Amino acid sequence: MEVGTMVEINSETVADKVYESGFEGIFTPLFRVRDSSLGAYLQAGGYTAIERALGMSPEDVIEEVKKSGLRGRGGAGFPTGVKWGFIPKDAEKKYLVCNADEGEPGTFKDKYIISLVPHLLLEGMMIGGYAIGSRDLIVYIRGEYWLEASVLKRAIDEAIPYVKQKFNFDVNIRVMQGAGSYIVGEETGLLNSLEGKRGHPRPRPPYPAQKGFMELPTCVNNVETLAAVPFIIKHGADAFRKFGTEKSTGTKLVGISGNVKRPGIYEVPMGVPLKKIIELAGGTDCGGKIKAVIPGGTSTPPLVADELEQATLDYESLASFRTFLGTAACIVICECNDIWKVAENIAKFYAEESCGQCTTCREGTRFIEYLFHKIVEGTYSWSDVDSLEEISTYMQGSAICAHIDACAMPSQKIISTFRRELKGGKRNHD
Ligand code: SF4
Repeated sequence: MEVGTMVEINSETVADKVYESGFEGIFTPLFRVRDSSLGAYLQAGGYTAIERALGMSPEDVIEEVKKSGLRGRGGAGFPTGVKWGFIPKDAEKKYLVCNADEGEPGTFKDKYIISLVPHLLLEGMMIGGYAIGSRDLIVYIRGEYWLEASVLKRAIDEAIPYVKQKFNFDVNIRVMQGAGSYIVGEETGLLNSLEGKRGHPRPRPPYPAQKGFMELPTCVNNVETLAAVPFIIKHGADAFRKFGTEKSTGTKLVGISGNVKRPGIYEVPMGVPLKKIIELAGGTDCGGKIKAVIPGGTSTPPLVADELEQATLDYESLASFRTFLGTAACIVICECNDIWKVAENIAKFYAEESCGQCTTCREGTRFIEYLFHKIVEGTYSWSDVDSLEEISTYMQGSAICAHIDACAMPSQKIISTFRRELKGGKRNHD
C-alpha cells in the first residue's frame, strides 16, 4: 500500500476473530452491531451512561464503580474505583490516560474494543474524567495500531461535539501514538513516553496519582477497564456483580491463541473453567494433549495439565496456582510443541524489551535466554539447569518494575516443572 493511501475502515473485516461464547455479556451485544459510527452507538443506547453520570456527584460515580468490584483489566487487577479515589480532589489540573499500548504477547482484546466500539471506550473515559475531575483525557496507543488509532480519532471527532451540544459537557481527548516498545505498557514508562522522554519506568513512590503526566496527578486505566464503566453506571453496580464470582466480578474478554482451532476473542463471565474456554476455541488444533496453558499473557506462569483441570478464570483461582489472570490472553501449548523453545522465545522477548536501567533485569533476562538456548541446543550441563532455577527465583522483585518478574516467574515455573524431562545432560528425545 502506498504511503498516504486512504483506508476505508470496515468493522465487518476487523471483527473476523470475535466469536460468540453463547453468553450475553456487556461487550458481545455491542460487538454484534459491526458498526463503529456514532449513529450506531446511539441506536444501541450509547451515551446514556454519561448522561446518568453527569446527574450524579463525582463521589457517587466513584462509589458505584467501587461497589461494582471492577478491577483493572490491563494486568495488575487493581480496583478501579479505589484508583480513581486516589486522585486528589483539590488539584487544579489532572489527567486521565487510557493505556492502549497492549504489548503483552498473546494479548489482542483492546484492539477489538477500539475497532468495533470506540465510542464505548470514549464514554468510559468521559465518565472516568468526570469522576476524578479531569477534562484532559489522553489515549496512549501503540504505534502498530495505526488503523485503530484512525478509528479512534474519527470517533473523537464525532463524540466531542455531540456531548458538548447534548449535555454541555466540555472535554478534550487526544490520541498519542507510541513507537513500538513493550515497556511503555508499564504505566510510568508510558508517562515518560507521553512526555517525549525515553520510555523508562520510574521508581515508585511517587505514584502517578500524586506525580504523573507532567508531574501532575494522573490516573492510568486500561481500555477494557474503561469500556466496562458505561455498563456499571447505566445498569448499576449490582447488575455488573451478577456476572462473575464474589471477588472477581463482571465479564472478561479472553484472547485465546496457540494450539487451538478457533483462536480469537470470547467474552465470558469471570470464574468460568479454563477448560471451557479451550472448548469454546474448538479444542487443540493438532488433536494432541495439552502440555501447558499460559493464562494471562506471557508474563504469567503457565499452568500444567493437572492444574488446568481445576483452574477457573478469575483472580483468586489463578493466584492459588501461583499465576495471574493478567490480560486473560490464554496461550495453549500442546505436547507437539517444544516447551523449551517456547521458554527460550519468551525469555528472548523480555531480554530484548528490557529498558536496561536495572542490572538484574538487563543481565538476568539475557542469561535466562542463554540458558534456555543451551537446553534447546542440548548443550547444557546440570549446573546450567540449577543456575536457571536459582536465577529465575532470586531475580524476582529485584528491580524497578515488574518486567523482571515477567521473565523470571514463567521461566522459574517452566524449569522447575519440566526439568524432570531433561536427562543425563541431554534431553529425553535426543
Ligand atoms: Fe527497565 Fe527491567 Fe528495570 Fe523495568 S526492571 S526498569 S524494564 S531494567
